[in-house]
Order: sequence, then C-alpha cells, then structure tokens
Amino acid sequence: MTIRTRFAPSPTGFLHIGGARTALYNWLYARKNGGKFILRVEDTDAARSTDESVQVILDGLKWLGLDWDEGPGQDGDYGPYYQSQRGDIYDSYLAKLEKAGLVYEDEGAIRFRVPDKEITVHDKVCGDVTVNLHTSGSKRFDEETKKEVEANPDIVIRRPDGSYIFHFVNVVDDLEMKITHVIRGEDHLSNTPKHLALFEAFGVEPPAYAHIPLNLNPSGTKMSKRDQGALIHEYVESGFLGSAVNNYMALLGWSSGDDREVFSPEQLLESFDLAGVNKSNSKFDYTKCLWVNGEHLRALSIPDLKEVAAPFLSLANIDSNDPRVPDALELARERAQLLSEIPQVINP
Ligand code: GLU
Repeated sequence: MTIRTRFAPSPTGFLHIGGARTALYNWLYARKNGGKFILRVEDTDAARSTDESVQVILDGLKWLGLDWDEGPGQDGDYGPYYQSQRGDIYDSYLAKLEKAGLVYEDEGAIRFRVPDKEITVHDKVCGDVTVNLHTSGSKRFDEETKKEVEANPDIVIRRPDGSYIFHFVNVVDDLEMKITHVIRGEDHLSNTPKHLALFEAFGVEPPAYAHIPLNLNPSGTKMSKRDQGALIHEYVESGFLGSAVNNYMALLGWSSGDDREVFSPEQLLESFDLAGVNKSNSKFDYTKCLWVNGEHLRALSIPDLKEVAAPFLSLANIDSNDPRVPDALELARERAQLLSEIPQVINP
C-alpha cells in the first residue's frame, strides 16, 4: 500500500503555524514512508477563498520546503484539488446515499441518517474514542422557548442553497483521493465519528487517523493570528530559515525520545514518527524558536549563509559580493539568531 497523506487547508488569507505544523507532520510521514503528500484546497467558502488567500498558503509551504506530489500546479490522478471544482463528484456521492436510503430532505437541507450504534475512532495519538452519534445528545437553542432542546442528530450534509457541508466533502475527497492517513489538529477529533459513519455508508474502509495536540500561546489559550510567531510570512520577513521553522514546529507536539532539539532536515526525516507525537497540548515559545534558528544559522557554510542573507544585506545597502563579506559573515554567524540581524553585526 502506498501511503497517501494530505494537507487540506481552508484558505483564510494566512498560513498559521498550527496549519503549517499539520502540513509538516503529513509531509514528514509521507516522505519518510515513501508515500505521497497531497495538497487539497478546501475552498467551499467562496467569500473567503480568493486567489490571494490560496497563494499565501502555497507560498508558505514552498518557503518551508514542503513540496506536494499532487495539488495546485501539480496534477495527479485524483484531481481537481480544489473543492470548489469538485461539485459533480459530490453530487454523485450524494446520489449513492440517496439510493441507499441513507439521506432525507429537511426544510430544503439534506440530512444523513447517523447510525444508532457505537462508533470507535482508533486514533494513533489520542487512543480510542467511542460515541453513539444518535444518542450522544446534540443540543440546539430553541428561539421560541429560549431553551436548549434535543437537536436532530442526523447530520446536515447539504445546505438548502445546494452547497455541501465540510464533513461530507472532506470524507468524499479523502475516499476519492485514496488518503491512507489523516493527520490533523485535535479540534477535528470530535468530527471523526461522523466521518467514520460516512465512510461506512459508502462501504469503504476509512483512513487511519492521528489527531495532533493543539498549539497554545504562552498564556495557555489557543494561538490566534495576532500572537507573535503565529503567521508563516512573518518568519520569512523576520529572517528565519525554513529549516529552522520546520525544526521548531516539529518540536511543538513531537519529541524524538532523546534530548535532541536541533534537527537538520535529513535528521528530522529520519527521526520523525507518529509514535513520538505528544498527547498534551504544546506551548509556543518564541525565544526557543529564535534559539533553534541561531543553531541552524551556525550550521550553514559561509557561501550558503551569504546566499540566504543576501536580501537582508541588500536592504542594509551592503553589497554581498564585497570581498570583506565572508569574514564578516563568519563573525555574524556566531552572534546572530536571525538573518535580519546580520547587517547589524557587520556594520554596528
Ligand atoms: N479544511 C479543514 C481545516 O482546515 C481540514 C480538516 C482536515 O484536515 O480534515 O480545518
């Protein structure tokens, strides 16, 4: 079996460190196991999904060196890789459920009948999670009585306006794209029983699941785009190296089992394993991320450092071909944590 993993971002205009870490784990797992890494754009929210918001994700992944085998700009056998272009596929899968009598109309929406039985997610990180979707007590707020009432447990899979709901398209795509391992944020663990019910309805074996712990900010709440270190494009501008950001992101939720914290790209590939993914949430630590970057800078040869530092030297009007630059870079390499600090070390 060829391992097939995927990163399935919903474009929001940013590549957030949490998403980038998910992409990294999927990429590492595929590359390490001789598999394929697929990039699928979950752009069903037309208002947010502009070309620019997709481009930010593609640029961020390229900068991190997380290349995809199938996806935008990289055709494969299971495209298109934008959900907005897969409407016919979704219609044909809805027809299968209709034929099997597993869906019904409800005020213009289409609902999928959830089975009245226990469903167990065998998660590779979180362990077993068992739930009966039919009786697990979903609630809704009733406007008339102003009280919480039992909600219909059957899942809406298509809205009255004809657009499909996340759970349905996510499952259809994982099935159609022959995804074998779904590695994603723990916030999706509670959705997974619904996804397993859909896989069963289609008569198909589900992929393996691994939900990775959330990445929290230093105050212990979910990291938002306003937190320092949250957005990948800021790392590019601040003078981080992609290899160092990958290294730090890998440590946010995984450990190699020994005390090592600095990994070259090759070492990371060699060491990464789902078994080393932590069960508890991680806390983002910008100081440590800077330290990791400094270590990666020090591992560069002077010609390599010159190449990556060139844009920052040129911003400071330093000609990187000046014959004095290599010696200056030797010194800067010892002292700087960021490429953007190098001009300051050279020309204090
Ligand atoms: N588009 C979903 C998200 O960005 C993907 C979830 C998944 O990986 O299955 O959260």
